Amino acid sequence: MSVHHFPPRGGWPERLTAALLRGSLQLLLKPVFSPRVPIPFQRLWLKGLSRTTLPLRGTRFEPDRPGGVPGEWVRPAEAPTREGSVLYLHGGAYCVGAPSTHRALTARLARATGMALFAADYRLAPEHPFPAAVEDALAAYRVLRERGPVVVAGDSAGGGLALAIALRDAGDPLPASLLLLSPWAQMTAERVPARPPRGEAMLSVAWAQACAALCLRDTPPAHPWASPLDADLRGLPPVLIQAGTDELLHDQALALHDALQSAGVNVHCEITPQRWHVFQLHGGALASADDAIDRLALFATSAHVPGQIEEREVVILGAGMSGLCTAVALRRARRDDFVVIEQSEGLGGTWWDNRYPGAHVDVPAPLYSFSFAANPRWTRRFAAAPEIQAYMQEVARRFGLGPHLRFGQRIERAVFDERDGRWTIHLADGRTLRARHFVCSTGPLSRPRLPDIAGIETFAGRILHSARWEASFDAARQRIAVIGTGSTASQLIPPLAERAARLTVFQRTANWVLPRLDRPYGALDRLLARLPPYAVAVRAFWFHALEWGRRGFDDGTLARRGMLKSAELLLTRQIPDDSLRARLRPPYPLGCKRIIYSNDFYRALARPNVALVTEAIERITPHGIVTTDGRDHPIDVLVCATGFDVEHSLAHLDIRGAAGQGLAEAWHDGPQAHLGLTVAGFPNLWLMLGPNTATGHTSTLLFIEPGVQWVMKAMREQRRRGARWIGVKPAVMAASNERLRQRLGGSVWAGCRSWYRAADGRIFALWPGFTRDYVRAVREQEFAQFDFG
Ligand code: NAP
Repeated sequence: MSVHHFPPRGGWPERLTAALLRGSLQLLLKPVFSPRVPIPFQRLWLKGLSRTTLPLRGTRFEPDRPGGVPGEWVRPAEAPTREGSVLYLHGGAYCVGAPSTHRALTARLARATGMALFAADYRLAPEHPFPAAVEDALAAYRVLRERGPVVVAGDSAGGGLALAIALRDAGDPLPASLLLLSPWAQMTAERVPARPPRGEAMLSVAWAQACAALCLRDTPPAHPWASPLDADLRGLPPVLIQAGTDELLHDQALALHDALQSAGVNVHCEITPQRWHVFQLHGGALASADDAIDRLALFATSAHVPGQIEEREVVILGAGMSGLCTAVALRRARRDDFVVIEQSEGLGGTWWDNRYPGAHVDVPAPLYSFSFAANPRWTRRFAAAPEIQAYMQEVARRFGLGPHLRFGQRIERAVFDERDGRWTIHLADGRTLRARHFVCSTGPLSRPRLPDIAGIETFAGRILHSARWEASFDAARQRIAVIGTGSTASQLIPPLAERAARLTVFQRTANWVLPRLDRPYGALDRLLARLPPYAVAVRAFWFHALEWGRRGFDDGTLARRGMLKSAELLLTRQIPDDSLRARLRPPYPLGCKRIIYSNDFYRALARPNVALVTEAIERITPHGIVTTDGRDHPIDVLVCATGFDVEHSLAHLDIRGAAGQGLAEAWHDGPQAHLGLTVAGFPNLWLMLGPNTATGHTSTLLFIEPGVQWVMKAMREQRRRGARWIGVKPAVMAASNERLRQRLGGSVWAGCRSWYRAADGRIFALWPGFTRDYVRAVREQEFAQFDFG
């Protein structure tokens, strides 16, 4: 069943507005929609009331008569950007209503789809009984269809009409899709409850029946155009149905969905709880109405036909933290014409991939949440992976991102066309999208790396990479080898050690380990976290504490002395054995590789069922690992906590910028960008957490947010100038990379091998300064540093 529920978001302001609107409709409209009130008065009253809805500023309404049918073109201030049009058929029980009563909805739908919208003023009953309305809808549709693809949309009775015209048997080309809002698709009295549900703000059974009688006159109610729900629905185009739970036609919407599905139609049904009949008319006042209209537009503009190209303003690659942040920024700016393409089956990015036991964030959680979406639910300071995923789900829900997210889809190729300044994006399943802006938010740690050790392919047991964990794996009674002793290994070794029969840890380089200042967050913490000043203060405290920690990367600082001392204390306290302690002393300066924060890693290594092997691995055999001292270590399971291929994190994508240049060629000496966000020669391409934005001391979210804000600003500027594209000047990028090179040359990160460095030694991943330096550098960029085309 493709029926989805979309609970209204927006908290108490939304609830209050909804209560006020529902009350006003019940008081002012419902009593007038009655068989006892003359139809002319109902029409006048509805027109008067509709003036209180919120129009969309700058929208033009131009009268026209396509096919002799009067109506109005609805054109929002920003000119339509898509080919084709929307034919809108208003509701009103076939007897009342007009294009002017639906302007709050039609204007928003036109803006969201980017298509010209024609609202037909079809003939109404009782003056013009059935099928006058269908004939008008058909006549207007045919003229619009000659000019391009048409999406047919309608609410209530208009929803029934929309279906009826799609059901015509004249053999015309079908609409591209049908959008049915609270459709009245069956004029027989079936599937209408005897009493409206509580909360129905507009319709009554008596009024609907009276209007049906006026409209049908001699037509039987079961006529397929009058009750398309009972007709043969096979061969219809894709349909999106929307309804509320609190409406008379709710059951009919579900029945229509089932009937369409049984007829083999691509149909989706969206139910909004606690909303009434055609609540979308309150666009601008209710967030739930705006969200529903955005979903209609997304559906209408999606490519349903194989081979058809889907046009978008923005395509985001990756649904991790940075993709999520970009999507929220677009939603908040009401730039809703975007989709997020994610190859995994769910939200989370690195938090979807890294579900090994013990996975948690290694910075305090208050700083691992967006500044605009504080999370009062963290249960501990260093939150575990499932909590972070839950937080991401909550952010997606709160900002209504669901319909924009497309899981299980993989982008293979993206090609920039300089003439129209758009990216053509090819998906692995053969579909194609085109977008003005392409945001690559795959993050640096997305391509797991298996160790290049001889014989690994011959291993007969199970091989697990930490970023591709199998949830069903049970370490109990197993002989396990872990290769690697980085941040990931330090998190997964303690829980594995507790269950495994024997755990052998293969360490190539010992790392610096500092205590993790973790603690559970109790009920009081969570209560206080709901108070904005407290949440802001905690966040600010951790921000400054970690910024201070950045000083620990510079020689001779107090911070460094403190960190060295603390590392030594932890090692001596937790590892009493002298020889083991000696093997755990790092051979490189503190900070050169990512520092490990752990209270249980050393303890796990000191357990009797755990062995630390520091001899190099010579080869892997079908049943074990042979080290260079000739020892054979028999194992059942091989766990590779061997990190990621950061240098080639985008290598699996064929990205072609201006003049057809490939990103892989541009990066043959290692990845480089300007402030990690833009690459010269690749206009309208935005990288999130691109080269030189990783940090060794703080939360990546602090780097994501300013980056996203800048990208939003750049997109605005490109639109404001009427330019097709924006791209950083090559000289600007070269200069910023030269500054980085000089700064990083003598730094602590030059002193060892790590994922921050390319094969030739260049440090391409790390930002050398404080967070505030990066934020300032991003904010202070000037558009003079960019070319526009
Ligand atoms: P990593 O830091 O790259 O560590 C990989 C480990 O595997 C190192 O110990 C490395 O040894 C070892 N290794 C790689 N190839 C090997 C080989 N052929 N033979 C023997 N040993 C080999 O990867 P990671 O631990 O997955 O962490 C990557 C990054 O993810 C971290 O730096 C951190 O930024 C992030 N992370 C974050 C969190 C969090 O809580 N936020 C948690 C986990 C990871 P060498 O040191 O000798 O190269």
